[in-house]
Amino acid sequence: ETPILQVEDLRLEYTVGNRRIAAVDGVSFSLPRGGALGIVGESGCGKSSLGSALLQTMPNNAELTAGNVRYDGRAIILGGKPVVEGGRSRIDALRWTRIATIFQSAMNALNPVTTVRRQMMDALRLHRPGISRADATDRISEVFDMIGIPRSRMNAYPHQLSGGMRQRAMIALSLILEPELVIADEPTTALDMLIQDQILGEIADLRERLNLSLILVSHDMGAVAESCEVVAVMYAGRIVEIAPTRRIFDNPAHPYSRTLIGALPSLTGPLEKLESLPATDTAAAAAATGCRFAHACLAATDLCRKTTPPAMNLGGGHVCECHYAEDFAAETAADKREVR
Ligand code: ATP
Ligand code: MG
Repeated sequence: ETPILQVEDLRLEYTVGNRRIAAVDGVSFSLPRGGALGIVGESGCGKSSLGSALLQTMPNNAELTAGNVRYDGRAIILGGKPVVEGGRSRIDALRWTRIATIFQSAMNALNPVTTVRRQMMDALRLHRPGISRADATDRISEVFDMIGIPRSRMNAYPHQLSGGMRQRAMIALSLILEPELVIADEPTTALDMLIQDQILGEIADLRERLNLSLILVSHDMGAVAESCEVVAVMYAGRIVEIAPTRRIFDNPAHPYSRTLIGALPSLTGPLEKLESLPATDTAAAAAATGCRFAHACLAATDLCRKTTPPAMNLGGGHVCECHYAEDFAAETAADKREVR
């Protein structure tokens, strides 16, 4: 079956003064229809930039310099350029109707001077011009029920809603047109843990019910583990490891993933220290020769500092950009056996 999304060597650069920052530096992945991919990594590693590149919603100082993106087999970005058809870019035609986004801050995404219900009605009428008022009303009630917003809150303005309800309202708004793919960027980060769990649970339910495909961006490994079958770990603009979720937890092969997961380090002394990594200077790390994580990796060798690690295929959909990926994956597996 054709994947819903195929991304090949995507590159996005920001210009700040006379500096260029490669925030997305050659990212490739494929998302099967109905699948869920989690993208994790520390602040500044390029997760949101990747999301905005996929949707072509980048700020003015951003430029795609390379990459191909296919949606359901059709090219929407070729050689870093949006594909235009009939005077309109293909991605514009897909946004909202087939690809929806959920952002971190509902307050910025919702219109503050209109009720949530009204915004949903407007979206429906804009994109489904033939829809009757009665059908639109039914559809809105249905989505509110699905997302767990009480009907009594339907006519509230965004500021009258609690943080959790507001976030639900945005999810409802993004789902009203029955998209096939949802890109959620830290959809629950600003909320307390209990509400985070509830909303993630609801997103998981929706996925099953609507056969949604999902890209969930988060710096919270736990949240991603619960909602996604595959996890991609991003570091300084690249996916340094990608694997089925169980694999990445049981056998993380990249030293950076191991710190994120808090895997039991086998090289006890040095690797333990990695867990309190200083914030990465993405631009500096990306510009370094060799492995971009070498500067912070206490297992780094001369090879790491001199030669960019190739993508090591560890089988079963597990790929890792570390010279020693095979050794590390084997080690974590051995550790787990010892513990059991
Ligand atoms: P967070 O977890 O904090 O949301 P992120 O992984 O989403 O981080 P991005 O926001 O994509 O990271 O940023 C990636 C890099 O690009 C960072 O170095 C950031 O400083 C830089 N950056 C992001 N937006 C811009 C911009 N508009 N102009 C210049 N640089 C930017
Ligand atoms: Mg972000």
